[in-house]
Amino acid sequence: MRRGATPPGEHPQAPAPHRKKVPAASVFIPLLLLAGTGHAQGTHAVAFTFDDLPAVRFSSVAEAEAITVKLLGHLRALGIPAIGFVNEGKLHAAPEVSGQLTALLEAWLDAGFELGNHTYSHMRLFNNPLEQVQADVLRGERQTRRLLTARGLRPRYFRHPTLNTGPDLETKEAFERFLTVHGYLVAPVTIDNDEYLYALAYDRTRARGDSGVVGRLRADYVRYMEETFRFYEALSDSLLGRQPAQVLLLHANALNADVLPALAAMAAGRGYRFVSLEEALRDPAYGLPDRYVGSRGPSWLVRWALTRGRRPAEPPGIPAWVRDAVTAPSPPSRPASPSSPAPWP
Ligand SMILES: [Zn+2]
Repeated sequence: MRRGATPPGEHPQAPAPHRKKVPAASVFIPLLLLAGTGHAQGTHAVAFTFDDLPAVRFSSVAEAEAITVKLLGHLRALGIPAIGFVNEGKLHAAPEVSGQLTALLEAWLDAGFELGNHTYSHMRLFNNPLEQVQADVLRGERQTRRLLTARGLRPRYFRHPTLNTGPDLETKEAFERFLTVHGYLVAPVTIDNDEYLYALAYDRTRARGDSGVVGRLRADYVRYMEETFRFYEALSDSLLGRQPAQVLLLHANALNADVLPALAAMAAGRGYRFVSLEEALRDPAYGLPDRYVGSRGPSWLVRWALTRGRRPAEPPGIPAWVRDAVTAPSPPSRPASPSSPAPWP
């Protein structure tokens, strides 16, 4: 078994700061509360997945550690299985801190969660040579594989950076064959979203000390995510005639570290129970053909629809005031999603 396979104390040298803050008993209280409201028998299922580990943005190890401790504490307390996708390049931002940053990955494993590969440098398949991306995948598994091997596990899921699966079918399929040869399954996403823009706005607004907008961003983020859930539920109904086990894309960022309980309550309120990625991918929907290629990285629901010759509507956008909060006072380090995205092919 992958979860809970590590006996306590097997890695006494590995710091697990979150453990001090999450007494075991607290894990069960929110589950009982959820059971009391009937949500424990949710009719829908969703897997929470987190990209860009150890954290999307951090100016110090302490900041990355704070995000990790909060996120893992919430996930454990709420009984949410999770997987984190690692960019190992982030571990080497500075040689003197790589050990401390690697310990944050160990904290995910010590908390019973899984780690997957997201390339070393977040390299996008659309605009980089296939061989270079393949090398970046292998370079990006060194520490993760070592940590998993020490627990009798191995990396088994790969998440495409920006969800881009290649510029053409030949490249897409060659890359998928490469992943298979190296023991990886593709980790699809059905509930794609622009959470990363809310998170960027959140970080920048907090840095400016604008507490009014910080509070507004937290609340509007959950509203936006519920609108996004509703959109993909409707697409699921029209495409599949049912709700598949969904896979939600999130990132290891300060916004989720602060707002995860409200996000989880929203999902539970919509009838979701929380499942592992492994369990979600047992849904037969994930065997559907995906022949999408192009510059974007859409939800697999959109890919399945496009592959069937359908052209789904654009997913919900983010409000202009959130976009404004991203761009002030300095331009984003990652390009904001285009105001008018390229049309589906
Ligand atoms: Zn990413």
